[in-house]
Amino acid sequence: MYALGIDIGGTKTAMAIMNASGTIIAHDQLKTSTQAAPEVMLDRIIICAKKLLEKSDVTEKTLLGIGIGAPGPLDLFRGMITYPPNLPLWREVRIVDYISQHFSVPIHLENDASAAALAEHHFGAGHGHKNILFVTISTGIGAGIIANNTLISGGRGNAGDVGHMVVDPSFGLCVCGQLGCFEHICSGTAISREASRLKKMPLSTKDVFQLYQEKEPVITPYLDKVLERMGMAFVSLINTLDPEIVIIGGGVSQAGDILFEPIRHYVTRFTLNKDAAHTPIVPAKLSQTAGVIGAAALILNR
Ligand code: ADP
Ligand code: ZN
Repeated sequence: MYALGIDIGGTKTAMAIMNASGTIIAHDQLKTSTQAAPEVMLDRIIICAKKLLEKSDVTEKTLLGIGIGAPGPLDLFRGMITYPPNLPLWREVRIVDYISQHFSVPIHLENDASAAALAEHHFGAGHGHKNILFVTISTGIGAGIIANNTLISGGRGNAGDVGHMVVDPSFGLCVCGQLGCFEHICSGTAISREASRLKKMPLSTKDVFQLYQEKEPVITPYLDKVLERMGMAFVSLINTLDPEIVIIGGGVSQAGDILFEPIRHYVTRFTLNKDAAHTPIVPAKLSQTAGVIGAAALILNR
């Protein structure tokens, strides 16, 4: 038996067919066009999925279902992607109904960070743990929560949207209208934006970490402060959720120990429960593939 996973991202949509033991037997991807109407994109996704199934000799008899990971916010009751910031034309798109018209198998929608958390739980850094906090630090910041081996979706599918937790109002106005959200301070977008402003030149997030390693005098105090704010966010999350392990994924986590060490240091110092203060904080294992693997795992997990 097989599951089809579809991971809809701001730049690409990836899909994969997974067998019951968790091996990907075929995969494909297409560019997500932010200019195209969602129906046009969905039609392309459906054609791509049908071709992939045909090529792999997977019929609807052997397909257990289709899992979809999508950028939130979502409305799981109505199988809907509501108003994702990175897909400006996608407004209240009833994706589950739309895809159901073309396949007669169960369809399960979750937000992308939750799907990635599930992938890390089954096949990645969280394997063997019952209580996991997965945080992705990329263009934005999101989280997936596994509690007692169960993915916590929340009432509408938006649990784990930690990016808009206020960490330090002195960092100014976030797109959501609050001051100093986690994402507004610590996402790759935020770090590149703020460092470029300070240095009066365009800098990528990777450049910023490079300059930090070289102890550049303007970037060093700035990034020290950002990494401390990251630590604060993780202390609040660990105090709230009491996970056995914290997994950090997303592009910014590729900075490696230069990012992980200050977070671990801060968490060890300030987490209230002294056992939780030593919660392992580790990089994600599946990186780029977590989205599709997680989407397929939504079906195999049921
Ligand atoms: P997406 O948000 O589309 O899922 P990614 O997870 O790849 O994309 O995250 C993209 C962010 O990660 C960008 O802000 C990028 O600058 C940043 N990034 C990518 N590689 C690195 C790196 N080696 N060090 C620090 N930041 C990085
Ligand atoms: Zn915000």
